[in-house]
Amino acid sequence: MQKLFVFDLDFTLWDAGGTWCDHTNPPYRRVNRHVEDSYGSRIVLYPDVLEILNRLEENNIPMALASRTGAPSWAMQLLQLFEIDHFFPYQEIYPVSKIKHFDVLKKQTGFSYSNMVFFDDEMRNIHEVGALGVQAIYVENGLSLQLVEEQLVL
Ligand SMILES: [Mg+2]
Repeated sequence: MQKLFVFDLDFTLWDAGGTWCDHTNPPYRRVNRHVEDSYGSRIVLYPDVLEILNRLEENNIPMALASRTGAPSWAMQLLQLFEIDHFFPYQEIYPVSKIKHFDVLKKQTGFSYSNMVFFDDEMRNIHEVGALGVQAIYVENGLSLQLVEEQLVL
């Protein structure tokens, strides 16, 4: 059975300079492989992220985002600057409990909670979303290939 892979943003896909992207200072600019805000703070994707997204796409695994950032438009700019927004046809980005994000994702995608896998660095999200029946994976030091591969049955 195919699964929907859902990702948090801050401290899961990227590190916004040791903080959350809603604590950065746009405008942003792309510099080589990272992004800088107007103060020169670096926002970086975790090292495995591009490979993970490409591999999932190659295997036709649908992907979504669930972020409760207070600055959705900034997060969307970062997705575009990192050139990864196209991986995610479903993007739920707004500051409420992630139960809401998953309710919308279930309706939009047709996937049941038991056929979703979710990666996040905050235990409160893991507990809330896990209680829905979603396989919720705690991300400690940024998303890694190993964490994702453990959830892949190819
Ligand atoms: Mg996070």
